[in-house]
Order: sequence, then structure tokens, then C-alpha cells
Amino acid sequence: MTLGRFGLRKRDYDFPPFRPPSEANSLLLRVTRGCPWNRCTFCSMYKTMKFERRDLEEVLEDISMARELYSDRVQTVFIGDSNSLVLKADELVRILNALYSSFPHIERVTSYARARTIAKKPIEDLRKIYEAGLNRLHVGLETGDRELLKEIDKGATPEELIEAGKKAKQAGFEYSLYVLLGIGGEEKWEQHARGTADVLNQIDPHFIRVRTFVPQPNSSLYDAMEEGRFQPASPETILKETRLLLKELEVTSQFMSDHISNLVPLHGKLPEEKGKMIQLIDEVLKGLQDDVSLKEEMEARRHLTNL
Ligand code: SF4
Repeated sequence: MTLGRFGLRKRDYDFPPFRPPSEANSLLLRVTRGCPWNRCTFCSMYKTMKFERRDLEEVLEDISMARELYSDRVQTVFIGDSNSLVLKADELVRILNALYSSFPHIERVTSYARARTIAKKPIEDLRKIYEAGLNRLHVGLETGDRELLKEIDKGATPEELIEAGKKAKQAGFEYSLYVLLGIGGEEKWEQHARGTADVLNQIDPHFIRVRTFVPQPNSSLYDAMEEGRFQPASPETILKETRLLLKELEVTSQFMSDHISNLVPLHGKLPEEKGKMIQLIDEVLKGLQDDVSLKEEMEARRHLTNL
């Protein structure tokens, strides 16, 4: 079992292999395995895994095992794998009820979810799940640009992304969206920034979290790069793209750069801290012009990080 900060493992406890950095201290609970979509061209996370829903009784057994070990110490829970909302609302409600009755000090339960799944789910179901205690959804937006969404096979249109975001917020969830800087490569950075800002402006999520695209072996975008069909964005381009994204944003979100792949540590509340973040980008862009080794250092980072 891996219980985040408790760092324990037990052979017969099944835990999600991926979780957001903000869930590092959480109890990890797996209700599905893999990704029901599994087609995004940049993603290699679950490529070798066949998607399946776990048996409900097995999940409840995991909760009861965790309760015996850690009951008083669990304050946050992350539910995996990539899209727990594929479960029926009643099933999720049973799991959430078991969590809350097992751990008296829970403050937050979160999960990954796909935008299209949220868009398709009846609002009453979303409300039921929220009211049972799933507080926050982590959703991969990646980009808001229509052409790029198609190219990366995200399986969602800008309209679906917007509908999902609005609906999730309406149901009560805290909404956390992930943007993949550099996913348009050297060629399409500007449309990526503008399209993404446009979708984000219409959703106004609670959190905007940026990650920088690092080509992953075992993904089709990596193959495209190897074959010269995709040119990864340079550090300058990624910074220009981030600058444009920030400039175009008209939201009240928390902007977070909480991932090692990112070139600049940008954190701030929008709109209040927009100017400060843009200024920091400008300083780094200037540094890149003056100092060649800084660029090399940023390029090298690509080889050290993972999605
Ligand atoms: S990015 Fe998310 S939705 Fe796309 S294949 Fe990977 S896990 Fe599935």
C-alpha cells in the first residue's frame, strides 16, 4: 500500500500509479485501472495497461485495510486512476461514504476526471457525488485550441471542455485544470496560448496548473518528433507562449507551476499577480538572450523530467 506521506506498501493493496503533486500526502485509493480513453498522442502513462473497473467489494476492502492502519492520520484522499467518474454515481457515493465513515479527519477527497465524461454526466449525478464528499476534480485540458485538441487526440472539443468545466463548478466541485505548455511545438505556440486562454476564461477554474511538454517514449508524439514531424518548442518559445497565455487570461484562478518540468516557478493569484508573473518571464527571457548556459540548462531539464 502506498499512503502518500506514510510511504508504506503492502502487496495486496492496489494503488494508483499516478497522482497530482498536490496529493503527495494523500491516501491513494484505486477504483479503476488505466485510462478508458488512452489515445492522447503525448501520453504514455497507461499505454501498457488495459482499462478496467475494480470490483466494488475489493475497493471497500482496501478502505477497511487502510482504516486499520491509518484511520486517525488520513486527512486527504486521492482516487485513481485517470477518470474515476466513469463509475456510476451510486457506486462512487458508496466508496465516498466508506471513506468518510472510516477516516474521521478527512478534509479533502479528489480525483482525476475526463472533461467529456463530466460533460456527459447528468448534473444530478455530479451533485450527488460532490455532496457525498468528492471535493475537487483534476482535469487535463492540455490546450483549448481546436486544431491542437484534434491533433493530440484529446477526445474533447473546446465546447465540451467549457461545458464540463461549467457543469463541474455548478455541481460544487473545485476545478483544477492542467495546461500542457509546448504542446503546439515550435510552430503552433501562439494559437495554443490564445485558444487555451479563451477556454480558461469561459470556465474560470479554481486552479490552473501548467506542465511543460516533455516527449515521452512510447507515445505517438514522441515518434513524430523522432521522425521530424513535430518540432518541440524551444525554451524561449515556451516562455513566450506562457507570457501570452497569462496576458490573455481574464480569470480569478490560482495559477500554479507545481511541476519540475516547468522552466520558471510561476505561482500567483489571478488577476492580482499577473503583472508580477509576466515580469518574471520577461526577466528570464532577457537572461536567455544574455546567457547561453541558461538555455542549455533549460534544454537539459527535458531529459530529467517526466509527465
Ligand atoms: S492524458 Fe489522460 S485522458 Fe489522455 S490518454 Fe493519458 S491518461 Fe488518458
